[in-house]
Amino acid sequence: MADTQPIGRRTTVIGLDLGGSSIKAGLFANENSAPVRNLVMPTPAHEGRESLLGALIAAVGALCPDGLSDVGAIGIGTPGLIDDSGVIHGPAVNLSAWQGTSLSGEVTERLGVPCVAGNDGSFAALAEARARDVDNLLFVSWGTGIGGGIVCGGRLVTGHLGMAGEIGHVCVDPAGPVCGCGQRGCLERFAGAPELVGAYHARGGAGDVSSFPGLALRYRVGDPVAKAVMEAAAVMIARVVGAAMSLLAPGTVVIGGGVAEAIPELPGMVARALTRCSFPYLFEQCRVEPSRLGNHAGMTGAAETARDLSGRRA
Ligand SMILES: [Zn+2]
Repeated sequence: MADTQPIGRRTTVIGLDLGGSSIKAGLFANENSAPVRNLVMPTPAHEGRESLLGALIAAVGALCPDGLSDVGAIGIGTPGLIDDSGVIHGPAVNLSAWQGTSLSGEVTERLGVPCVAGNDGSFAALAEARARDVDNLLFVSWGTGIGGGIVCGGRLVTGHLGMAGEIGHVCVDPAGPVCGCGQRGCLERFAGAPELVGAYHARGGAGDVSSFPGLALRYRVGDPVAKAVMEAAAVMIARVVGAAMSLLAPGTVVIGGGVAEAIPELPGMVARALTRCSFPYLFEQCRVEPSRLGNHAGMTGAAETARDLSGRRA
């Protein structure tokens, strides 16, 4: 067995992306932004705290079968509201058993390696910014839910209690449907993947569409109702992104997440809609792009944050 290296001399970090259905895990060399090894395993979403913790430990073990002597730090991205000390505060899907306790603290204790936890959208924003070498970026994760993250001046903006970047919970209609966050008319309730399927049927769509992949297929074969649904959703996203641009002047806006991955035209549709709902000069100076890292963004940003932690401890 290799001798345990001091933290500062260890040459790898681990990024974990704890999602509602899967855990994505990657082992990264300190100098490299692509994983040297990665895996996906199911999230035991309904089996409680110990089972979830066990799955994270198992993912780390599978990445590093020879032990963790060379791992400097571990980053964990998760949905929900997580403060800078890794304590989970809010109503986090699949993580309710963790509320008020520190996910990063538990993993550090079990594995003996420094660990940092944060919001998955924020970590993805950091990874997308570093992948482009830009200092000001707004990331929109458009999927079942709508999340996001903000990088300003080269730093991740996490905000009070880690709540910054919740773009899906910007109110777009105070008389709209109730959201899980407690508010009415959140963007997510109009443009989240399940809501898009509902909108397709409400507009009289004739296709056999029961989930978002079915809707994306109808879009690709030219179903006019599917196209109208996605155009309307892009306009809703653009209105919120346009407001965020006025507040943050991001310079780069990345439209990622499962919905955007399934319909590659969406970033362009959002950009076209932004011509009617953003500060014109800010828009001219801003790039609106698809994700470069795809479903590796959260895991990569978790590893980047782990690398920063490892560097501080060196
Ligand atoms: Zn909400």
